[in-house]
Amino acid sequence: MRIAIVGAGLAGLSAAYELREHDVDVYEGSGRIGGKLYSVAFNDGPTDMGAEAFLARNAEAVEFFTELGLGDSLVAPSGLRPLLYVDDKLQALPTGGMMGIPSSAEKIAALVSAESARHIANEEPFEWTPGGDVSVGALVRQQYGADVVEHVVSALLGGVYSCTADDLGLRATIPGLARVLDEQAAQGSVTLSGAVKVLEQSRVSTPGKGAPFRAFRGGYAEVYEALAEKSGADIHLDSFISGISHRPGEGYVLKGAPADAPLYEGVVLATPAPTTARLMAGIAPQATEALREVKLASSAVVGFKFDSDVDPEGNELPQNTGILVATDQEDVHAKAFTLSSRKWPHLAERGGALVRASFGRFGDDALVRADEETLVDYALDDLAHITGFDGRAAGVSEIFTQRWFGGLPRYDEHHLETVSSVLGALADVPSIAVAGSWVNGVGVPAVIAQAREAARRLIGAK
Ligand SMILES: Cc1cc2nc3c(=O)[nH]c(=O)nc-3n(C[C@H](O)[C@H](O)[C@H](O)COP(=O)(O)OP(=O)(O)OC[C@H]3O[C@@H](n4cnc5c(N)ncnc54)[C@H](O)[C@@H]3O)c2cc1C
Repeated sequence: MRIAIVGAGLAGLSAAYELREHDVDVYEGSGRIGGKLYSVAFNDGPTDMGAEAFLARNAEAVEFFTELGLGDSLVAPSGLRPLLYVDDKLQALPTGGMMGIPSSAEKIAALVSAESARHIANEEPFEWTPGGDVSVGALVRQQYGADVVEHVVSALLGGVYSCTADDLGLRATIPGLARVLDEQAAQGSVTLSGAVKVLEQSRVSTPGKGAPFRAFRGGYAEVYEALAEKSGADIHLDSFISGISHRPGEGYVLKGAPADAPLYEGVVLATPAPTTARLMAGIAPQATEALREVKLASSAVVGFKFDSDVDPEGNELPQNTGILVATDQEDVHAKAFTLSSRKWPHLAERGGALVRASFGRFGDDALVRADEETLVDYALDDLAHITGFDGRAAGVSEIFTQRWFGGLPRYDEHHLETVSSVLGALADVPSIAVAGSWVNGVGVPAVIAQAREAARRLIGAK
């Protein structure tokens, strides 16, 4: 079967790999493959400026990477803990809970007001419609208090989704919690603390179901390069596709492909949601209409290599994996710091210190648009303000700034409904598949699994 894939990010390349027995052309609008996976050549080795890790809880992703020949490249984190910067203080990120939502007041008491702690301890049951949805922020604010959202939950979710908890739907981002609320509603009384407790207990009774992150010794380039090579697909860089049309009985025509490109029997659209919506306009207008609802969140990452992890005054980078910043911390511009060489022993081996500063959340692109010098100054000033470590004095040997405009789709409380409408509208369109982070989860394992499944469906395989 002759198949075109639009987009050479993780989804497009995973689909290409799945379709390796077929005749596949991949069209990529930019000059490189990988999309939001991007390992940049720092002097001491490749350093990820997009995704840097994945949640290896699900064995399927690890098996897939092993199948790609990358089993020996997988590396584990140091086991150090992250910090939270709240109320002008660095504090330990509470353990347990679900995405920062605690099951009791004790673990979070130091981070929130006495009033919120009382609300958590004496939580009133609430009305919950099974199958319903709500924004994570609205629910936590209603049951616990605004500072639980701003100090902990938004800081944690912001690190994953580049959105505050108010812009994220519960069922789309913490589906297990929504399911337990459904079960509680069927039994009578619903509380958030009770539901989180159920999930904590299920974690304890299923050992090994923690959150084991893994990364690649040579960065994510190992993944996108292996996928590109092992797929055997013809990958066309700088090939921006601007439309698709269908010639009945002949196949699909891609506008933007070279003039001598063939017609295709099947097409996988592995592009961000707004682009996919535009590309489907000529072949699936209803799907286009539904998909327009999905908005994107932008962010920026500034990576630093410092000569030392101690400045001349003796201020050391904390012995922690990273720092999340509370969303109401107005004197700080960064939303998070990954202390990469503390988090990953393979990066610590390089000497000096690697740190990534992250900026930007949905609805506020100002920081992402700030000029490079400003972002670098914000990052260094924030790091010094929060930790005492003066990066400039420690010596900055390398800096890389990466802006991710529209880097992640917003999974709001209508997202699941939107995706189901899009897929429903596409069911009648022959031989078109969609793949990518907007369909079934933004994490690397979810993107791979969804893209592979979409590819299998396209060719009618199970
Ligand atoms: C800063 C950041 C950090 C992250 N960290 C993690 C992490 O640590 N762990 C984790 O599991 N996940 C992480 N993620 C999420 C994960 O990286 C993404 O969900 C995933 O890489 C998305 O892959 P994709 O193929 O769906 O999309 P993309 O990577 O966006 O790929 C889409 C591709 O399509 C191309 N394209 C777009 N329009 C066209 C067109 N018209 N014609 C041709 N080509 C086109 C683009 O150039 C791009 O290459 C992170 C994301 C970001 C932004």
